[in-house]
Amino acid sequence: MAFKTWRLSDRVSLIQETGVASFMRCNIWHVRGRDCDLVIDTGMGLGPLKDWVLRETDRPIKAIVTHCHFDHSGSLHEFDCRLGHPAEAHNLAAPQNRAVVYSGAWTEIEIVDPRAHPDFDPATFRITPAPLTGYLDEGDVLDLGDCAFQVLHTPGHSPGSIALWDAKARTVFTGDALYDGDLLDTLYHSDPATLRRTLSRLQGLGAEVFHGGHYPSFGKARMTELVESYARGENTLVDVVAWYHDMRRETPDIYADQDWSGVRLD
Ligand SMILES: [Zn+2]
Repeated sequence: MAFKTWRLSDRVSLIQETGVASFMRCNIWHVRGRDCDLVIDTGMGLGPLKDWVLRETDRPIKAIVTHCHFDHSGSLHEFDCRLGHPAEAHNLAAPQNRAVVYSGAWTEIEIVDPRAHPDFDPATFRITPAPLTGYLDEGDVLDLGDCAFQVLHTPGHSPGSIALWDAKARTVFTGDALYDGDLLDTLYHSDPATLRRTLSRLQGLGAEVFHGGHYPSFGKARMTELVESYARGENTLVDVVAWYHDMRRETPDIYADQDWSGVRLD
């Protein structure tokens, strides 16, 4: 199986691609609504994600990318309704490896398990073009009938990064602007000063549950630690290759399941 699903609540399931290194494994979120469902981010495209999601729902699906990077946009092309920020649109319509960040140091480290994906060739890997069918920007609302998400423009990691905020449930999906790990602000189109502003905005939102683009979800106390340590210049990722080797020393099985046992949702 190319995917695994964990049901976190009646509303939210987490889907992850199998055979992708823990630090690169995108959180693919399936959010169930009365009238339609959301799929937030789509992984690297190593398997048929839409078919996997359709096993769980017969409602219409809106696929949303928080940003254009290869670990989030790989299966976007499979969906009929593809939504994202206009500033990411050109990289989704005509993905270049350089622009979707599958380039440089990222191609020098192992991120896909050859035992799980024997046909994966890092040298020829490309993201399938997925032109957006609609734009999402600050102030837009995604209404699922029994819940609604406000779109927040959260640039810094990339210019058109977005977050989805359910004010009633105090829950926010933050993409790669904020997750429980080292943040990336030195990519070709990243901007650290902008990311700092985005993080202080997320800090002031009043959210209780944070679902990031990678790693297990977290609450308010952990959010504060992460945002404050970023402000001190701590949790950022600068030297990808050195970081990767540290990671492999600490966690030799980089493909093992993550520990989500500490994640509590009501
Ligand atoms: Zn990512």
